[in-house]
Amino acid sequence: MATATQAVTLDQNVARYVAKPRKMLINGQWVDAASGKTFPTYNPATGDVLAQVAEGDREDINRAVDAARAAFDQGPWRKLSHSERSRMMWKLADLVEKHAEEFAQLESLDNSKPLTIARVADVPGTVDMFRYMAGWATKIEGNTIPLSAQGNGKFLAYTLREPVGVVGQIIPWNFPLLMAAWKLAPALAAGCCVVLKPAEQTPLTALLLGELIQEAGIPDGVVNVVPGYGETAGAALAAHPKVDKVAFTGSTEVGKLIVQAAAGNLKKVSLELGGKSPNLVFDDADIERTIPGAAMAIFFNHGQCCCAGSRLYVESKQFDKVVDGVSQIASKIKIGSGLEPATDMGPLVSQEQLNRVCGYLESGFAEGAKATVGGKRHGERGYFVEPTVLVNTNERMKVVREEIFGPVVTATPFKDIDDLVAKANDTEYGLAAGVWTRDIAKAHRVASMLKAGTVWINCYNVFDAALPFGGYKQSGWGREMGHEVLELYTEVKAVCLPIS
Ligand code: NAP
Ligand code: MG
Repeated sequence: MATATQAVTLDQNVARYVAKPRKMLINGQWVDAASGKTFPTYNPATGDVLAQVAEGDREDINRAVDAARAAFDQGPWRKLSHSERSRMMWKLADLVEKHAEEFAQLESLDNSKPLTIARVADVPGTVDMFRYMAGWATKIEGNTIPLSAQGNGKFLAYTLREPVGVVGQIIPWNFPLLMAAWKLAPALAAGCCVVLKPAEQTPLTALLLGELIQEAGIPDGVVNVVPGYGETAGAALAAHPKVDKVAFTGSTEVGKLIVQAAAGNLKKVSLELGGKSPNLVFDDADIERTIPGAAMAIFFNHGQCCCAGSRLYVESKQFDKVVDGVSQIASKIKIGSGLEPATDMGPLVSQEQLNRVCGYLESGFAEGAKATVGGKRHGERGYFVEPTVLVNTNERMKVVREEIFGPVVTATPFKDIDDLVAKANDTEYGLAAGVWTRDIAKAHRVASMLKAGTVWINCYNVFDAALPFGGYKQSGWGREMGHEVLELYTEVKAVCLPIS
């Protein structure tokens, strides 16, 4: 593992953006927290404070919910034509594209993902999501329904799909801007109003997006962005009696707290939670393609992906070759600050995540796992961890059972397909899985047996605004993206009348 050097020159707008304390967006105004408090966001490559941000709390959430409520119940948003709403979303996408480099740099500073990745994945993915969902704004339809027991032609019955109302959205730090887009775009397409709480570690790009939301002409109060801590601002939003729905992405542990908090007014809940996704390599796979695919499945975004292919199962004959190949790739990954052009992998997002991932490594070694590459913290400054491949693991170890959320993969050989599928499914999660084989019938058969919301065959980490994404089991409730996501942001109303 080499260390990359030489950072890119910071865009002047980005330098200016982080130099001033950032306010929160409530009812179209940039305001301080009611308490006057701010909190720091850090540069994970150095641990230094990057910017100060208004610290939203219960009172700010109350103000933001009131603004969203008024915008939804009385405001212009619902009265706009669907095509007007669509046009504003399209304009927002254009504005994000225009400011793409600023977003990429700001994301790279706040989260420390490689700038190259932010440029090709996070920012274009955000633009695509707003454009794709802008198209849906004009295509949300009901059905006409022939009643089953009333006699033909006696009733006219139809359904309307209406916006669910005021939505609280709570997002994580691994793809801060993109997660904001995954949440905001379908909500806006459906005609909802939103209070968005970004993660404490990475609030900056969601706030910059707030500026463009205003520039796009989206009316005041339709989108409110309240940065703050989960236990205070997040919890207040999830529990708020005037919020109709909460959409959450993050840990399964906090997902359960969201469900409890939502019970007070039985608001609708959608959850995008953790994973421990199996990546299955058969003997007959195209190994030259599989090895980089399996490495990317775990090391992309430093392993901080809910769908990371963190359990690699390889059919016995190819086990050594695949483990060796993935380990070699890991050993060549350049670790450094996200803003250094040569960097392949940045630091983890925080000291907390560094401690957590290193804790898993120690527990794995204590239980008998061995590292073929990596296995420890990289350097002494910043939150870097070496990309790691663990072998000699078994199904009882914490490193095999629990989500590590870092660049750590366990590799296990298998002989028998039924045993493989049982092992792959032996997890409380069910977010994603990978299958690598040239035998297409086998690939489809295995795909049908896996309990996962996404199965990638001979590829991994392929996302598209049109492709639904979400989890089985404790990986979540509901599907984001695709037309399926509209179900999360709409209510169905059945209307019927006698016509004879
Ligand atoms: P987390 O606590 O689940 O954070 C996700 C979001 O929920 C953040 O905005 C967080 O705010 C907020 N939150 C925290 N406690 C809350 C509460 N009681 N009520 C309402 N909102 C609350 O995740 P984390 O602590 O950042 O990371 C811990 C682990 O979660 C990771 O190691 C990883 O395993 C998992 N994770 C999964 C995903 C995913 O995409 N599935 C993403 C991130 C993390 P604050 O940021 O202010 O705490
Ligand atoms: Mg947290």
